[in-house]
Amino acid sequence: MQQTDVAVVGGGLAGLTAAAELARLGVKCTAFTGPAPGGLLLSIESVEGMPEHPEGIPGYDLCPMAQEAAMDAGAEFINDDASALQPDGDGWIVTSPEGSVRARAVVLAPGAHLRPLGVPGEERLAGKGVSHCASCDGPLLRGKPVAVVGGGDAACQEALTIAAHASEVHLISRGPLRARESWQQRVRAQPKIQVHEGARVTAIEGDNGVEAVTLADGRTLPVAGVFAYAGLLPNTGWLQGVVELDADGRIPVDGHMGSKQPGLFAAGFARSGNNGQAAEAEADGKAAAEAAHKYLNT
Ligand SMILES: Cc1cc2nc3c(=O)[nH]c(=O)nc-3n(C[C@H](O)[C@H](O)[C@H](O)COP(=O)(O)OP(=O)(O)OC[C@H]3O[C@@H](n4cnc5c(N)ncnc54)[C@H](O)[C@@H]3O)c2cc1C
Repeated sequence: MQQTDVAVVGGGLAGLTAAAELARLGVKCTAFTGPAPGGLLLSIESVEGMPEHPEGIPGYDLCPMAQEAAMDAGAEFINDDASALQPDGDGWIVTSPEGSVRARAVVLAPGAHLRPLGVPGEERLAGKGVSHCASCDGPLLRGKPVAVVGGGDAACQEALTIAAHASEVHLISRGPLRARESWQQRVRAQPKIQVHEGARVTAIEGDNGVEAVTLADGRTLPVAGVFAYAGLLPNTGWLQGVVELDADGRIPVDGHMGSKQPGLFAAGFARSGNNGQAAEAEADGKAAAEAAHKYLNT
């Protein structure tokens, strides 16, 4: 079995930053990144709110830069999902289909996935107009009406990305928009976007592709695509029973990203209290790496 000092689980900004920082600190680090490193931001046209990129930066530039920084620093990569974690004496064993790694400490940064709407038609029409990637599938819907579901930053951001391609965008939010003011202003200033606040999608219709969405108030909106950004769920199901999780399925930590179990740290969206912003994912990754480094030396 491969031995390492610290195993990092997660290939988003939190995990990649932790791996880079650990390697820079001279720690032997092995990062399980999943098959496509980059995380949620990989397909985003302009990641906003990062102090070092005040004008915004495409996620498809930012994420590879973070990966390159970790590789240049000397972190090792396993491009596979970790599927199990178990304690082993004073360390931990992380398992993936590619094999197992024994580490003295582990930084858990598995991030999140988009919450499904859970309505009829969603699964059946996935890839046939139901999408989670505005920049990939927006161009395929050029000149057609689409629906974006959600009322937060991500929904507003992606509605604007799709508006560059679609004929009209129905932004459907269960309650009032809750995105930060700057996103709301931009959405309301885009004439192609119609905001439906207090509206709920109950079904996605269509035979071989999306043709319409039905709303709880009985209306049917003809659309050719549906993009759902209705919240995030942490990728922590595989940790149940091994790591303490809070009611939302996230990992509680102390002020130094340490979990209740020795040698186990958490970073990014998967840790309790993380605010879901890219800059905080990076800051978490750095803090968890420093704490894991300190743990190895005490
Ligand atoms: C549409 C959208 C737009 C957004 N735009 C912005 C923005 O403009 N500005 C901003 O600040 N924030 C934005 N965010 C929020 C931002 O994406 C998150 O805060 C950030 O991605 C969290 O980083 P993370 O590393 O914790 O998780 P993630 O980005 O989710 O990365 C986790 C990674 O770990 C991998 N992984 C999961 N499980 C395992 C496992 N078992 N083994 C190995 N790897 C695993 C995943 O495949 C993924 O690659 C946006 C989010 C969305 C959904």
